[in-house]
Amino acid sequence: MREFEENMEKRELISIIAPIYNEEAAIDIFFAEMRKFLATCSYRYEIICVNDGSSDNTLNILKKYATEDKRIKVVSFSRNFGKERALYAGLKYSSGDAVIPIDADLQHPPIVINAFLNKWEEGYDIVYGVRKNRENEGRLRRFLSKKFYELYNLIAEQKAPYNAGDFRLMDRKVVDAILKIQEKQLFMKGIFNWVGYKAYSIEYACAARAAGISKFNFWKLWNFALDGITATSTFPLRIWTYLGGGIALISFFIALFFLIKTLIWGDTVQGFPTLVILILFFGGIQLLVLGIFGEYIGRIMIEVKNRPLYIVDEVINISE
Ligand code: UDP
Ligand code: MG
Repeated sequence: MREFEENMEKRELISIIAPIYNEEAAIDIFFAEMRKFLATCSYRYEIICVNDGSSDNTLNILKKYATEDKRIKVVSFSRNFGKERALYAGLKYSSGDAVIPIDADLQHPPIVINAFLNKWEEGYDIVYGVRKNRENEGRLRRFLSKKFYELYNLIAEQKAPYNAGDFRLMDRKVVDAILKIQEKQLFMKGIFNWVGYKAYSIEYACAARAAGISKFNFWKLWNFALDGITATSTFPLRIWTYLGGGIALISFFIALFFLIKTLIWGDTVQGFPTLVILILFFGGIQLLVLGIFGEYIGRIMIEVKNRPLYIVDEVINISE
């Protein structure tokens, strides 16, 4: 009996969620590594592969794996909706007691999940991975990413640790809390921290991409950063109350200075450079502020339109 109990699988189910976009070169390696991990894992599992509108052979390869093993499930989008939405869909379709998002390019070594599970068993609701190294990224990307997190953490109420990514374990109750969030402008790294709960961090060595290239170019990352800031904080809007107030105050004294100067010495038709500088300065500031307003207004429009986050074209091994 005792032996039977020991051999018995732990009954909890873990859901592994992989957002996948044009990864035909990496999927086989991903599943090979996944199998190595699963051989050491005593939980029941499901692997939810979210095909984020891949235009290569990704979906067919996923289908092949899904026919071989019913625990491999596929949610396929009608087009590319972005990693954040793919992750959200993965959470939505998951039914595990613990849920683990992981990149399909093996930058997140699956074997680390065992360490996550140990801490989960100890009673932590969230166990998040912290990258020990970032040498796999270009120097410029690392620098800008660090600056982004500095700014983000300066203005966000819930901090996002710099080296913590989406690779983490979340208890079911954390996932349910996240799924209550209905916004279109998903910034998962912010949302993960926003919900709270008892968290533990584990360091891991971030590997190089197994195959293929990063799906995030500079422009995508820039917009991702804008989304992150505007989704989390209204600071860029509010700052103009104070900056604008300060500039108005200084302007008042400059105006007073010119008024008195003109009254005493008369109008000598000088000061053309001053005029140009002032016009350019205020014109620039006003356009900048308009731009920032625009960033927020555009996002308000997207929220108000309330379109679905993603369109699912096909699901495999999932009963809806
Ligand atoms: N990904 C996705 N949709 C996208 C871009 C990326 O589902 O629009 C997936 C991608 O297939 C990978 C993960 O998100 O599994 C991380 O992407 P990537 O490795 O390209 O990003 P990086 O590691 O360079 O930040
Ligand atoms: Mg990657």
